[in-house]
Amino acid sequence: MDLQALVCEVHAELDAASERGRVADYIPELGKVPGAKFGIAIATMDGRCVTAGDADDAFSIQSVSKVFALALALGKIGDGLWKRVGREPSGSAFNSIIQLEHEKGIPRNPFINAGAIVVADVILAGHRPREAIGEILRFVRVAANDETVSIDPAVARSEQEHGFRNAALANYMKAFGNIHNPVELTLGVYFHQCAIEMSCVQLAQAGLFLANSGRDPRTGISVVSKERARRINALMLTCGHYDGSGDFAFKVGLPGKSGVGGGILAVVPGKASIAVWSPGLNAQGNSQLGTRALELIAQRMGWSVFGA
Ligand code: GLN
Repeated sequence: MDLQALVCEVHAELDAASERGRVADYIPELGKVPGAKFGIAIATMDGRCVTAGDADDAFSIQSVSKVFALALALGKIGDGLWKRVGREPSGSAFNSIIQLEHEKGIPRNPFINAGAIVVADVILAGHRPREAIGEILRFVRVAANDETVSIDPAVARSEQEHGFRNAALANYMKAFGNIHNPVELTLGVYFHQCAIEMSCVQLAQAGLFLANSGRDPRTGISVVSKERARRINALMLTCGHYDGSGDFAFKVGLPGKSGVGGGILAVVPGKASIAVWSPGLNAQGNSQLGTRALELIAQRMGWSVFGA
């Protein structure tokens, strides 16, 4: 089936849905985003990008940024990162604190908030927060091959003012010696990284290197090694949707990373990178319509990492 026709079909089918989940409002700035927004973009190896709906509207990528931050931190300290963060699915909410006590301040994986805060701490080492934030943003711009990607300062501020849970996680890990910089500086980096805004088109393009063994198929730039791309994909599959990761693998069958802004990046190895956005979330904090859209696209295209 023609990809453009498929994307339009899936968008039209789901856009009629009235039950779209709940827009996150624990970060007040995110609560202002209209729940009716819905975009899809699929970038393919040949540099094409097919879209439907609000695919050019910028939205807060939130936890999808954890994929890029992880790639950057691994580039800095390599496998040493795994002494400070685990690689197992958590089975708990993205902002849960319970496991941290049992596991002595070592977060289960780099995609739950605690793990991503450690990753931000690694990127901050030896730098000022502004430099670390700039480095993350530059990495995303290179991956997207788009210099216009930016950070929404209002979202960063909103999260800084209401990020009590994240502050609790960071302080708790600091008590175990797993945060090396001053907590408020590490959190500043994390909040700004989450406040990166991108459209579905930009995000789909930024994910292409993960579908192409670490190399941007358009520019030929090697963003990460082949082995690293494979491992990041594995972590996205097992941990990218928090306590909804098993269900996402079951229904969609592709590595994916969600954010509370309602965006999801999914990787089809060797074929494509997909970004969907619909702000309403399910009980696990993952985009409800976005998940369904990925499920239909994967099903109708026969895309799965588990077999054709
Ligand atoms: N910035 C958000 C937070 O820390 C990211 C969470 C998410 O997208 N799941 O709460």
